[in-house]
Amino acid sequence: MIDLDETSPDAILAAAVEDARAAALDLAGAADVGDHLDVRREDDLVVTHTFACTRPGYRGWHWSVTLTRDAAGTGATLNEAVLLPGAEAIVAPSWVPYKERLQPGDLSPGDLLPVEDEDPRLVPTYFFGDDPLDADSKAQVRQVAKDLGLGRVRTLSPEGIDMAAQRWYEGDGGPDALIAKSAPDSCWSCGFLVRLAGPLADTFGVCANGNANDDGKAVTFNHGCGAHSEVKLARKQQPIPVPDHVFDTLTDDGFVAL
Ligand code: SF4
Repeated sequence: MIDLDETSPDAILAAAVEDARAAALDLAGAADVGDHLDVRREDDLVVTHTFACTRPGYRGWHWSVTLTRDAAGTGATLNEAVLLPGAEAIVAPSWVPYKERLQPGDLSPGDLLPVEDEDPRLVPTYFFGDDPLDADSKAQVRQVAKDLGLGRVRTLSPEGIDMAAQRWYEGDGGPDALIAKSAPDSCWSCGFLVRLAGPLADTFGVCANGNANDDGKAVTFNHGCGAHSEVKLARKQQPIPVPDHVFDTLTDDGFVAL
């Protein structure tokens, strides 16, 4: 008989706890199978029983045994028996592809990091529109760029520019960096700011002050630091002059021959 209640498990399969336990014992051995924890409906004639896992080192894991049966029959058939982690289980972190794990500074000398053909941050140098290029067209673009000696086969796409701008703006060279919040003035008016050309020129420049934390880095015009070219110390901030020595013990001037 099929259970017509779509929320409760099939009564015959739900009662087959010992059949499910036998399957778990087959899989794990008596020492590793604990109390019956739960039974839940998977489908009309499919039910899963869970048993605590008592194997050392597997706290929070459970044995999951799924049973099924013929609509006309009364005997349970084993569908699957596996060990599964519960909410409290210690499991390995989920896999993240290496390209998503990479952080600035991870590349070592000699490492290679190829950029995919379809990387949205780049577009072919002679192409700046929405029509996708097929493989032959891409090969032709590469060949033309090489023949003309222009060097760069691809250049930043509008998306690549936006991504860089957002990253830089929100980074250590942006207006929200701690050093910028307490700066006496902004990079915009600093003599050490090197202006850029191109689409990022309205917002960013490069700091060229060898004494500043951001030397050689892209900074926003509204970033800033205490090494600004026009910073002057107030009188009370200036170092207190050290008086000359009254008696220089490193020379024999002060000794009088008797
Ligand atoms: S020295 Fe400071 S204020 Fe001047 S450009 Fe560099 S970061 Fe900006």
